[in-house]
Amino acid sequence: MVGRSLNRSASLNLKNVVSYYRVRVCRSSSTRDGRPVYKDAGKRSQVSTARKQCMLYSKGFAMRYLILSDIHANLAAFDAVLADVGHFDKIWCLGDMVGYGPQPNECIERLREFPHICVAGNHDWAALGKLSDSDFNPDAQWACRWTQEKLSPENFEYLDNLPMTLIEEGFTLVHGSPRQPIWEYILYPSIATSNFAYFDTQICFVGHTHTPVIFRYEHSDSDGTCLPFPLPQGNPLSLGEERMIINPGSVGQPRDGDPRASYAILDTDEATLQYHRIPYPIEITQREMMEEGLPIRLIARLGYGW
Ligand SMILES: [Zn+2]
Repeated sequence: MVGRSLNRSASLNLKNVVSYYRVRVCRSSSTRDGRPVYKDAGKRSQVSTARKQCMLYSKGFAMRYLILSDIHANLAAFDAVLADVGHFDKIWCLGDMVGYGPQPNECIERLREFPHICVAGNHDWAALGKLSDSDFNPDAQWACRWTQEKLSPENFEYLDNLPMTLIEEGFTLVHGSPRQPIWEYILYPSIATSNFAYFDTQICFVGHTHTPVIFRYEHSDSDGTCLPFPLPQGNPLSLGEERMIINPGSVGQPRDGDPRASYAILDTDEATLQYHRIPYPIEITQREMMEEGLPIRLIARLGYGW
């Protein structure tokens, strides 16, 4: 419930939460409609393999969720993640499927090939006209209006039906913040601190800033402001019992100075989060953007991850 802080004595143990909510099979959101046309046969076989692995793994016991955010119509980056990730049960997508990038329909259709859940982002809403793009910079406005013209009716409807907030297996998922799911950026510890009162689960996954980070509620400075930590690469992060707001970074337009695609795997049996950065063929996305006449600044920024 919004505005109510978590009853810490009752529900901070992640494994208890997870075992209560666990489902063992992929749900009906896995309908594989909207199969896209692939330009690259090699990519197709890689993604098909990821899809088969996903289906096979659902028959096991461990649950692995692929946490993605801010794909931003960058199919080359999205496919690189799918080719890299190995087994997973379901995608948890934190919004902004479209905007900036050259392949909005293809990215939505790729996501819909997999069992998944997804929340709405500000660029998704702007492309639908549900949100004014007047606060966007001129390049983002240009890309938004281009996206509006490109979206198929089916994909328009798909985006239109995305919820703002989801609670899944005892985790909260939003694009911006639990307080303002579409628009608020959790960039600073003070903003993160105030947002812990707006979700009841141990952990909230957010996107929107395109910057991977963890805000831990238990780690605060003398003013009681929670402190940010980098997501560790290499060893998985043990989720423990602390309340956290976690941003897995952006697949399609990283902004932390590292142009590689960013994603995370949540293992609910182990109660761990594994963070990954992987290279992808940026030049393919840049070439597509050039061909579509998208703004040069948006094309260039992909190369330096900002
Ligand atoms: Zn975004």
